[in-house]
Amino acid sequence: MPTETISLGFHGAARTVTGSKYLLRRGGASLLVDCGMFQGLKELRLRNWTAPAFDPKAVTAVALTHTHIDHCGYLPRLVRSGFAGQVLCTPPTADLLPIVLKDAAKLQQEDADFFNKHGLSKHKPAEPLFTEDDVERTLGLLQVVEYGRPFKAAEALEATFLDVGHILGSAMVHVRAGSDGVQRTVLFSGDVGRYDAPLTPDPTVPPPSDYVVVESTYGNRTHGAERPIDELERVVKMVLKTGGVLLVPAFAVGRSQQLLYLLRQLESAGRIPRLPIHVDSPMAFATTEVYLKYLESGQARMDPLTGGPMVGENIRLHKSVEESRRLADLRGPAVVIASSGMLAGGRVLHHLKNFLTREGSVLAIAGYQAMGTRGRLLLDGKRTVKIYGEEIVIRGSVVDMDGFSGHGDSNELMRWLGGLSGAPRKVFVTHGEPDQSAALGERITREKGWATHVPEMDEQVEL
Ligand SMILES: [Zn+2]
Repeated sequence: MPTETISLGFHGAARTVTGSKYLLRRGGASLLVDCGMFQGLKELRLRNWTAPAFDPKAVTAVALTHTHIDHCGYLPRLVRSGFAGQVLCTPPTADLLPIVLKDAAKLQQEDADFFNKHGLSKHKPAEPLFTEDDVERTLGLLQVVEYGRPFKAAEALEATFLDVGHILGSAMVHVRAGSDGVQRTVLFSGDVGRYDAPLTPDPTVPPPSDYVVVESTYGNRTHGAERPIDELERVVKMVLKTGGVLLVPAFAVGRSQQLLYLLRQLESAGRIPRLPIHVDSPMAFATTEVYLKYLESGQARMDPLTGGPMVGENIRLHKSVEESRRLADLRGPAVVIASSGMLAGGRVLHHLKNFLTREGSVLAIAGYQAMGTRGRLLLDGKRTVKIYGEEIVIRGSVVDMDGFSGHGDSNELMRWLGGLSGAPRKVFVTHGEPDQSAALGERITREKGWATHVPEMDEQVEL
């Protein structure tokens, strides 16, 4: 490849929402933007086990947009496969990453143990995708960069993080590629947050860019008009009436903090009585402490007057497995918040089996549910789910708290793109199921007249 050529490869989150990996190359230098794990459907999850279409050893550096697993969860595997360059990220992301990746390594090990114990693996013995050692090595590569400060990611690849308002630490990445000769600017949206959302600032106005890679999780949908706080009040009142347990599966990073924050607000305003709130996640505990650390910088929008989300005698945090098990005897009305957010694994599965098999209980979904996950199946109306091989019949109610989504909807994505001064040469629409990506691409062309393209998995384009 001549040194002047700049190319971009889409090695994940192409016509699907998970596995984000975009490789920007110029000559011998390359920057991988995000290094996410594939989640959801089995055919996607299996992709984590096949080598990526690029050589991990040849990647110069990685830039992370945020700490959700579908954006950072493959990183230890990349390191295990020989990557040894810098991992660049914002300060809050650097604080959250150890919590998230150590938890992921533990889950990998638990899964491998489970498969070995029950003889379910075709490989004997089943191996974890990565280990805690790989995570330690990964963390040793971290390089923290402040928002708004340009940094050299690789030779002739200069990048800047700008807040995109999705979760604490989340960023879009603006890359200037090339020095003499060919020059291109490429903007990677990361996950675009909401406007006027609790705990997160509005997405930053995007800087002028030759090319834009935009997510499209909700490329063809709009969120309901109901505000998250009103939705939450309505759902809490359901269990106040039935005396059941309200179970909210939540990402430990972001969603759990928003829920606690809004529950406190509802209490303070006298809109709901004080009821027992249980957060069953050591990870949510640790991440909330990181949120509090950034409270003053304005990056985590919390109201100190309400005491922050951790204060309150009725809020109990459960760290150990024994504490978690004791929750099985809980009687409502009460709220239980546990991860994982898509019911793909974790402690929430035990609570689902325990509480949702009872009438009067409520399962409130508060975030995007990828295809193939239990959360998605339940939202689509299914009333039985398989948990560790056992078929469970759901007798409680399932409610979609759509307003809690951390992703901008179609209108919000258009509003964000509308901040670009001048037309980009092309907008690549990624991180969405095919219909969502196609619809957003068409809308951009229709309303703005810009050229768009929905790349396929492992497609490579020259810029
Ligand atoms: Zn995300």
